[in-house]
Amino acid sequence: MKAGDIVQDFITERDVEKIIEQVLSKLEPVIEQVKPKEINMLPNKTNIDFSQNANGIFESIDLAVESALEAHIILTSYRLEDREKMIQSIRKEVLGDIENLARLVYEETKLGKYEDKIAKINLAASKTPGTEDIKTSAISGDYGLTIEEMAPFGVIGAVTPVTNPVETLINNAISMISGGNSVVFNVHPSSKKSSAYTVELINKAVLKAGGPQNLVTMVKEPTIETVNQLSSHPRISMMVGTGGPGLVKSLLKSGKKTIGAGAGNPPVVVDETADMNLAAKRIIEGASFDNNILCIAEKEVFVVNQVADDLIYNMLSNGAYMLNQEELEKVMKVTLVEDEDLGAKSCTLSPKKKYHVHKNWVGKDASKILSEIGIAKQDVKLLICEVDSDHPYVTLEQMMPILPLVRCSDVDEAIKLAVKAEGANKHTASIFSRNVDNMTKFARAINTTIFVKNAPTLAGVGYKGEGNATFTIAGPTGEGITSAKTFTRVRRCVLAEGGFRIV
Ligand code: NAD
Repeated sequence: MKAGDIVQDFITERDVEKIIEQVLSKLEPVIEQVKPKEINMLPNKTNIDFSQNANGIFESIDLAVESALEAHIILTSYRLEDREKMIQSIRKEVLGDIENLARLVYEETKLGKYEDKIAKINLAASKTPGTEDIKTSAISGDYGLTIEEMAPFGVIGAVTPVTNPVETLINNAISMISGGNSVVFNVHPSSKKSSAYTVELINKAVLKAGGPQNLVTMVKEPTIETVNQLSSHPRISMMVGTGGPGLVKSLLKSGKKTIGAGAGNPPVVVDETADMNLAAKRIIEGASFDNNILCIAEKEVFVVNQVADDLIYNMLSNGAYMLNQEELEKVMKVTLVEDEDLGAKSCTLSPKKKYHVHKNWVGKDASKILSEIGIAKQDVKLLICEVDSDHPYVTLEQMMPILPLVRCSDVDEAIKLAVKAEGANKHTASIFSRNVDNMTKFARAINTTIFVKNAPTLAGVGYKGEGNATFTIAGPTGEGITSAKTFTRVRRCVLAEGGFRIV
């Protein structure tokens, strides 16, 4: 046969089968070769005996990354159903130890409420999607078959917040492992003990299901410096940051694919058509949950004046406490730190006041805040106050059980002020209304990742609501409600009709 001859006449179906058999027989040993000790892909080879440390906690970022890389490479030789077994094992292990986990995180961070930690951990372990989120799409036709698979990124670096440390870890680990990745966490320093315990628990669960060791790792002493080491590490394929604006900004500079889940300041609009009893109950439920430390929690209310008294009456009947002007000023002195804007001072006699939140009061009980200003009252779920729209409790993401209410002339004004308060975080907002036009108008104007109608914003992450749970809501970078598929790449595989038929 010479070049240019038509091949089609010389290749039978049996020939094609033989070729496929030969290729397959060569592939198997390749999979066999993927064993931990033989992998030498790192720029600086180390002599670490990885078998000595299977709990996932490492002294340095380099060790944490190298171990996670090793685990990822081994994971690539597992089937999707093996990954699912690991996920089921993680769920079981977490749910079996849920009270201990909640206690550890509550005692370490001293934020929120123990019983709400249980609810959040349960949500993360039960409603984070597993491998069912990984789907392959196929196109077939005259020219063959094309499939698009969700392939792993590799080793992911993930930074977690102090407000949901264990919950974010569980949620991220389930999603990232389902996507075929391993993960190195840099947790908030104030949650390092409970996070280390959780990392160990997850690794134990993975090992029990027959998976590789150190699929999830973390650095023992996390700092901002270790975040920088992680995000600039050559073996990290993707960074995921759940936290405030400083974190997201810093990760976006890493030059790597970054998923940024940043701050929120979720406003609630209550219009004149709403069911006031329902609105009051649901707003209190959401805003007092875990003492308001969730990024999705209701942070300020814009209520149409016509129904404001009715809403307040119903809130007071359902566990809220209204601060009068004098009490409000005292609470502000306790919970906010006032800075003088020196620039403004130089050109005016009444310096413009600027505030930031007093860290010690984030996530504390409403009754504890009241007690600090001399009011002894138990069973208060939420403090409420009437303020103007530029009050610091409206403009700051304060994460305390203090909910400011702003009276508005009509729904249009309420929407306008709510959009301003949300601050283009593109995070979360809600409305209580029976008027679909108002709901649509607000949803379009605010354009948040989560928009909830007539329910606590918690419903937006699947808590007493439809849909899956996430603890990483990526507003700034647009992935939204993250899940396993968020942590995958699209890989296209093409099979031509008849192998390589030439006509
Ligand atoms: P934080 O930003 O102070 O810390 C988050 C993490 O980032 C920590 O691990 C911290 O060590 C690290 N970090 C902070 N600043 C950094 C910087 N400049 N460079 C590198 N790393 C940095 O936030 P927090 O107090 O732990 O958590 C509360 C914040 O997180 C709130 O703003 C809340 O809205 C946000 N949050 C967002 C989501 C979401 O899904 N969008 C979820 C939970 C919390």
